[in-house]
Amino acid sequence: MIYITYYNGLSLPDVSCYFQVDYLNGLSDRPVSAGDKVLFLMLKHNKEEGEVTADDIYPIATRGTVESIDGEWALIHTSSRVSLDSVRVNGRIFELEMRVRPDIEDIDPEELKGRFQKMRSALLNSLQENQQQMGMRNYVMRWRNMNELITFTSALLQITVEEKYAILEEDSVAKRTEMIEKAFYESLELYKVSNEAKTAQQQSNEEIYREQAIKRQMNFLQNELDKMHPENVTDVRKFEQKIQESGMNETAKAEAEKVLNRMKQEGQDSHEYGMLYDYLDFVTSLQWKKEEAPNIDLEAARKVLDDEHFGLKKTKERIIQQIAVMALNKKQSGSILLFVGVPGTGKTSIGQSIAKALKRKYVRISLGGIRDEAEIRGHRRTYIGAMPGRIMDGIKRSGASNPVVVLDEVDKLVRDYGGDPSSALLEVLDPEQNATFTDHYMNVPYDLSDVFFVCTANTTDTIPEPLLNRMEVISFPGYSAVEKFQIARKHLLPKAMQKAGIQKEELTLTDEALESVISDYTMEAGVRGLKNRLDSLCRAAAVKIVSGSQKSVEIDTKDLRGLLEMAPIRHDHILEAKNPGIVTGLAWTQAGGKILFIETMFTKGNGKVIITGQLGDVMKESVQIAVSLVKALFPEYADQFDSHDLHIHVPAGAVPKDGPSAGITLTTALASLVTGTRVNPEYAMTGEVSLRGAVMPIGGLPEKLMAAQRAGVKQVFIPEENEDDLMDVAEEVKEALTIIPVHWVTDVLKQTGIPVAEE
Ligand code: ADP
Repeated sequence: MIYITYYNGLSLPDVSCYFQVDYLNGLSDRPVSAGDKVLFLMLKHNKEEGEVTADDIYPIATRGTVESIDGEWALIHTSSRVSLDSVRVNGRIFELEMRVRPDIEDIDPEELKGRFQKMRSALLNSLQENQQQMGMRNYVMRWRNMNELITFTSALLQITVEEKYAILEEDSVAKRTEMIEKAFYESLELYKVSNEAKTAQQQSNEEIYREQAIKRQMNFLQNELDKMHPENVTDVRKFEQKIQESGMNETAKAEAEKVLNRMKQEGQDSHEYGMLYDYLDFVTSLQWKKEEAPNIDLEAARKVLDDEHFGLKKTKERIIQQIAVMALNKKQSGSILLFVGVPGTGKTSIGQSIAKALKRKYVRISLGGIRDEAEIRGHRRTYIGAMPGRIMDGIKRSGASNPVVVLDEVDKLVRDYGGDPSSALLEVLDPEQNATFTDHYMNVPYDLSDVFFVCTANTTDTIPEPLLNRMEVISFPGYSAVEKFQIARKHLLPKAMQKAGIQKEELTLTDEALESVISDYTMEAGVRGLKNRLDSLCRAAAVKIVSGSQKSVEIDTKDLRGLLEMAPIRHDHILEAKNPGIVTGLAWTQAGGKILFIETMFTKGNGKVIITGQLGDVMKESVQIAVSLVKALFPEYADQFDSHDLHIHVPAGAVPKDGPSAGITLTTALASLVTGTRVNPEYAMTGEVSLRGAVMPIGGLPEKLMAAQRAGVKQVFIPEENEDDLMDVAEEVKEALTIIPVHWVTDVLKQTGIPVAEE
């Protein structure tokens, strides 16, 4: 009886091996017994599915005999190779014709034995002396010859089936041995290399694990000790822990650890200690972990903005748009808004409301008067007393990585010997660069890309162009009296009362009194003065309530003078009738719009022009244009300029004034002077004038018109080309004024009653 089995590799003669009896029984319909024959066929490829056909079988195989049966195991010994002359396979039935294929014994048996022993030692050497491989070693030790060695390791040899078959097919024992050695040693080398790599990896892993375990253990013990003796927690240990917990990036951590090591070496008595301490305190207080943007409900954000600020419709709308865009882009910052306008118009405080609407931290950084780049970017830590720049200092104060930062007074940066602070600021605001903003003090980059920057300024004139280009300007022109009334009622007065500890029912400020505070006790475009007056009133009322003289206080117009301890402003005085040669103009200043008077007068002399009131060069040129124009328009009076000296003065002499917008006022003043015609002081005007007498556009119209209304002006001449700006002017201001757009300066002259000849 022959059992056919397929061998997953190479099976050579003179090999003893054990097979499971069950397995052999499964191959036949009769139980296996000693003396049965076994044929090991070699397959050309792995045949896992389907039946084996004659074509799948290599024509040389190995024959063996069942030597003995021991319980579950049958011992088989292979005796020789056979050539299969014909093979027919029909299911499990095989019809075979075969003959023994003898080896050519062309090698000395002793030599063969020696070569086998060498192979076995090589294999044993590559096995490790550990428990796991002990069994394997014993197994290897039991092999008796090279054929056993190669048969049992053939499944692991790094050679193809064809190469294995080539070994089986080889008749010459010498050649076969060479082939076996080659396959064996090559495979063994591969095994060793990968084994060594594995071992090395294992060792280094073990070291790392060990180190981590020791560290963890040390930390634990140290923390326990610290808890027992909190007074002993040293700075070094405190910072060690803070650095670990801070979530710093790798660069920052490396720098902090460097400083920490220095601190360890220097010790507390070193003069450097304080500086090292400050550094570590600073960097570990920063928020390094990136915060998620809180979910934003646009309606809720709108409500916050509306609740905290009256009016400012356009500004709020722009802010809401920005919030929406950020939400869509899943970003925490967007365009940089620049709020430009006079003081006290809510620029800074709306920044605070943006933070509240976005549910993010708020911080204000004042930049006014900075002349040194290091104030923005920090001082290098080369000397004691070096400090971080204001930007990083602000970020630290906010305690967040994504605060809303209001950069106040960006127009007040001064370029000086200390470098250009505005270029440093440019880097802070540039989304391309600010993800790796490096403060010199910190010396490592910090990511500012999630910071929402808002800037404020009184004017854009002094902001360098590149910086201005980065920002989107939103103007705050100031409030009309009606708006101020609402702001005071809804916001300033309740806040002032709260600050003074006054309950709602304890103080009444009549509407008339509030109107009077606005128009008679303040003269401003914003509401800062108004806020101060209301604070004063509340303090005065608090005294009355606390002293028990009154339970509740009512303030009426007549009480204001006494409570505020100041005299009301007299508008009638400002606008009282003036001599010819004096005309009301409108100016724009950083503190808002203003009315001003151009005063002109002829004195004895011979054609000199005297200018006083600190006029700048542009305004002086406007004087020359006005003189030439008036000479041309009124040739009959032109002689007066030669026979007299002309003195032009613009009061508030100590304040420098410049700009071309007084052109039509100067011309009208001179025309009024030469013709001896009084101009109604309740008429005011603004506009540049050309030598041809054309009126050209000017800036700051909303502020100027508000100032005119505040001062009680009735009629204003403005350049025709500025008519579009009227959209930005509050309705009640437009209602209170007669606004007359003009194209030629002669239109102004005619309408102010100066007799000018028709052209
Ligand atoms: P700015 O930064 O423009 O100089 P602030 O933001 O300091 O002005 O504003 C001065 C004060 O006036 C603040 O108390 C602010 O809350 C208040 N304020 C300004 N505008 C408004 C407004 N529209 N509604 C409510 N309060 C306002």
